[in-house]
Parts: sequence; structure tokens; C-alpha cells
Amino acid sequence: MNKLELPIFDFTEEQKVFRNEVRSFLQEEKEKGTFESKCDSWLSGYDPAFSEKLGQKGWIGMTWPKEYGGTERSAIERYIVIEELLAIGAPVAAHWFADRQTGPLFLRFGTEKQKQEFLPKIVKGKCYFSIGLSEPNSGSDLASISTRAEKVEGGWILNGAKTWTSGAHQSHYLVVLCRTEKKDPKNRHKGMSQLLVDISSPGVTVRPIKFLTGEEHFNEVFFENVYITEGNLIGTEGNGWEQSMAELAYERSGPERILSTFPLLEELVRLLKENKDTDRLKEAMKLVTSLISLRLMSLGVAKYLEEGKDVGISAALVKDLGTKFERNVAEIARLLVSSVPSVESDIEIERYLAQSILHAPGFTLRGGTNEILRGIVAKGMVAG
Ligand SMILES: Cc1cc2nc3c(=O)[nH]c(=O)nc-3n(C[C@H](O)[C@H](O)[C@H](O)COP(=O)(O)OP(=O)(O)OC[C@H]3O[C@@H](n4cnc5c(N)ncnc54)[C@H](O)[C@@H]3O)c2cc1C
Repeated sequence: MNKLELPIFDFTEEQKVFRNEVRSFLQEEKEKGTFESKCDSWLSGYDPAFSEKLGQKGWIGMTWPKEYGGTERSAIERYIVIEELLAIGAPVAAHWFADRQTGPLFLRFGTEKQKQEFLPKIVKGKCYFSIGLSEPNSGSDLASISTRAEKVEGGWILNGAKTWTSGAHQSHYLVVLCRTEKKDPKNRHKGMSQLLVDISSPGVTVRPIKFLTGEEHFNEVFFENVYITEGNLIGTEGNGWEQSMAELAYERSGPERILSTFPLLEELVRLLKENKDTDRLKEAMKLVTSLISLRLMSLGVAKYLEEGKDVGISAALVKDLGTKFERNVAEIARLLVSSVPSVESDIEIERYLAQSILHAPGFTLRGGTNEILRGIVAKGMVAG
């Protein structure tokens, strides 16, 4: 059986100074009232003005080349910014997918024109993207998608539907995985491509699906004879499956898979300490120790990603363990405090409890369900 190894990672003094800079900025912004902390803010904290502010700091597309507006900082410096944003529950949903995966997708597979057109706008926090993979009848079994693009003069005509599309009602573009060739039952991954769809195009309809909190985050998206120009093909025609799978390593291993409920955990520990409730504090600290291990694993994956290593299996493992941890925080916190959860409350612990409990069902589904991830880990451990 294969061994799963991840490097142990420690931050340099310079990186620690940078973390303090980021933390102080965010704390000041929170105190000024620029934002209200939230759990799961990378999905539900939509605030274009705040995204633009981060863009001005150079904290979006941080690792990207300077010629496209990036600052060529390291993946670890980016990790620090991401961690601090999530830890304080800052509103980062607007630019999240563009920074995390669409930008890297363009850098790896995009044309020069696409890079020049989109990357500088993403870096400024002004251009938002959604991910169009899941369909009404295709989730875990993504290879069964039916959304289809027919080749026509100068481009394609797109027909079909996507679902659970986070942020599509607020984004500018959608990266759509679709069939550009007939389904081949012998090779289900063949003949798919990634098309860039301007959400304001004629024939695109976005219908929000309400969350348990009453908020709108994800959507159904319908395509009826949507014309897509040739220039909006991402990468190579027919290579859509491989390209989409390459994105998943970025999607699965980041700190957002362990820190969605961090504002709740931090407030829980603070309250229990304040009340000198030692027994309950011990229970809460068990969560903190789990978090320390998960963070080391997530950092190990980030380090390997930076070195260009294949992290598919370890990213799946981090996401499986990390999202279960995020759910546990909500479950255990509700047992340790007698507060009544309410999304409307002025009291932080009550609000964080409600946000965490109501968002928790999605943690272990989005980005690939835990059952699917365990399958990837199991196959990876016995293969080769
Ligand atoms: C909050 C949230 C945001 C999302 N955002 C996006 C987005 O932006 N873009 C996007 O494209 N999608 C998005 N999704 C969709 C998400 O990727 C899918 O929900 C997920 O892949 C599961 O697909 P499904 O819902 O069709 O469930 P199904 O695939 O029908 O699975 C149902 C259950 O069966 C289990 N199951 C299925 N197949 C197997 C198997 N082979 N072995 C063992 N168990 C199995 C699953 O684990 C699951 O528990 C989002 C989902 C959520 C909850």
C-alpha cells in the first residue's frame, strides 16, 4: 500500500511579520465597521467594495505574474492572507472562485488574450466567476453531464442547465464544463470542453435557490441557444475533463475546508475562558488540537502544490477530514453553550451558531462529497 507523506511546514520570521500586517489591517477594518464577521464567509460574504479594497492591497492573485497585475508572492504568503481572511470571517465571496481557481485556470490553460483581458480585472477585485460543473442529474457522477455546445460559424451554441452554481446571480462569468462531442459510453470523459460564458448573454437564465438561512448563494442556471464566441474556449477543445480535474486540487485543500466555522470556535473559546468554565473549555480545546493537525496537513499540501507535485490524494484527504471538523465545531459548540442560535441576533455567538448550523449540511457536499473523496483516497492508497 502507498504511504501518504506531507512535509512539515514552519513559517519564517518574515512571513510572521507579514501575517501581523494582514491581521492588523483586517482588525482595523472590522473595528471601522467595514464588515461584520461571519462563518462560511467565503460562500456568503459578498461585498464587491471589500474585494476591491483587497485588490488595492495586492492580496488577490498574489502569486500571479506582474505582467497580469499579480505581485509574484509565494503560495505560502497567499495562504497567510487566506487564513487571516477566513479566521476573521471577512466578506470574500465575490472574488473567491476567481482568485482560487479561475485565475490559475487561465494561467495554465488560457490564451494570451484571455490572460490579458481577465487577470488584471480579477486582481483588482472587480471581475467575478462561478463554476459550472454540477447539473440536475450529474453531481458526483460528473462524467454524465449533458450540457452541450454545438459548433457553429465563429463559435458554439450552448444548451443545457447547471445547478448549485455558487454566486452565479452575482458573478460576471461562468466557466461551464460541457460536451462538445457526442457521449462515448466507452470513454465518458472524452469530448468535453470548458467554455467561458458571460452571464449577461442572451439565453442565460439564473434562478437563485434559497439556503436554510433564507439567503441566496447558489443557483440553477439555464442555457437556451447561448452563442459563445470561439475566443471563449478555455484551453483545448475536448480537454475539458482533464482541465476541470486539475482545478480540483486548488479547490479541495485550502484553509476554507477547515476554517468555515473558525469565528464560532474562537468566540466559543473566548466565552468559556471568560466564564472560567474549565470542563467545557477542555472539550473546546479538543477541537483546537484537531485544527492544529489539519492545518499542518493543509499547509503540507500547499507546499507540495507550490513545488508542482501531484496533490490529488492528499487534497481529497484534507477536504474529507477538514469538512467533518467544520461540522463538528457546529455540533459541539451547540452542546457547550446555552445560547439560542439566530441569524438576526446582535450577539456574535448566537449569530455564528446559526450560520454554522444552517450552512453545515453543505460543507461535506460542496467540492465533491466525502464518500467520493474517500473513494479517491482509498484507490490512491492501493494503486501503483
Ligand atoms: C453549498 C454548495 C455549493 C455548491 N457550489 C457549486 C458550484 O459552485 N458549482 C458546481 O458545479 N457545483 C456546486 N455544488 C454542487 C456539489 O458539487 C454537488 O452537490 C456534489 O458534487 C454532489 O452532487 P449531488 O448533489 O448531485 O449529489 P449526488 O451525486 O446525487 O450524491 C448523493 C449522495 O450519494 C452519495 N454518492 C454518490 N455517488 C456515490 C458513489 N459512487 N459512492 C458512494 N457514495 C456516493 C454522495 O456522497 C451523496 O451523499 C455545491 C453544493 C453545495 C452544497
